[in-house]
Amino acid sequence: MMTARGDDAGPAPEGAGGRRGEEPAPPFEMIVVGSVNADLVIRVDRRPMPGETVIGSDLATYPGGKGANQAVAAARLGARVALLGRVGSDGNGEFLRKALSGDGVDLDRLTDTPGPSGVAVITVGADGDNSIIVSPGVNARLSEDDIAAAADLLASARVVSLQLESPLATVVAAARTAARVVFNLSPPAAVPDELLAVCDPLVVNEHEAALLLGGPGEPEQQARALLALGPRSAVLTLGADGAVVAEPGTVTAVPSPRVEAVDTTGAGDAFTGALAWRLARGDGLADATAFAVRVGAASVRAPGAQSSYPYPEDLEGL
Ligand code: ADP
Repeated sequence: MMTARGDDAGPAPEGAGGRRGEEPAPPFEMIVVGSVNADLVIRVDRRPMPGETVIGSDLATYPGGKGANQAVAAARLGARVALLGRVGSDGNGEFLRKALSGDGVDLDRLTDTPGPSGVAVITVGADGDNSIIVSPGVNARLSEDDIAAAADLLASARVVSLQLESPLATVVAAARTAARVVFNLSPPAAVPDELLAVCDPLVVNEHEAALLLGGPGEPEQQARALLALGPRSAVLTLGADGAVVAEPGTVTAVPSPRVEAVDTTGAGDAFTGALAWRLARGDGLADATAFAVRVGAASVRAPGAQSSYPYPEDLEGL
């Protein structure tokens, strides 16, 4: 069955706890396990060919990293969210920690680690598209031991949100401890069936889907094919065209609001952070996606990743 869906279907129910006799609410609605990077951004009219030099804009440095981006996107919307990750002993580490703290992300599990912080070298083209090289730095040191040390906390959250800028073994270990896994399989890589099987949902963009599925295709067909890889549900994001949700027996197209794209960096992370939060609050997947496309669209209207992420009032009219 294929259904089309418009805007958000209304406010989500409150999270766990609160009433007498119920379990107390867990300290966090969601926990993000993942990367923290400094984004070094240069705007260019066009990208250099091998051996060529082009002149770009002034360098802008923004807080980023897929894990940190997801956490900030959720926190700005009102989520109680913690980030489990690592920052380095360089100046970027302090800069990144300060930015996350300013946005209200809980950082008790963000570990200072000797070595360089993660860095993403990003070029933004004339139409707002981006190309990214990531240097993992101490993100590569996020370990299975870190997960074991936080196992009770991870198990207490309704949703644990994961991406692949951290070591695969760490991501798999985190998935094992989580009540519900939202997994953005980005950057794309081969992952064990065990990990795919617990994703609810698996989230990828069109490029990632084409790599995972062996080629491009119609969005609804690709979403079905993603589901056939084994996750409990799948969400395919389509940039300006929104997203497609695949659940057993149902595929739902969710259009995105029309906006003028200035910089699409981190749109997928804003989308996924918002999606994970709404799922943690009890939304169904299609409703959570209808909310997340508005957050993703809002994020492309301004430069940078976290710097472009909306507060609730920024979603009015979208
Ligand atoms: P990624 O950032 O991972 O490449 P997408 O480009 O698919 O992922 O974007 C994620 C979400 O952000 C989309 O589903 C959509 O909601 C929103 N989005 C991205 N680009 C645009 C755009 N040009 N106009 C409106 N919304 C956008």
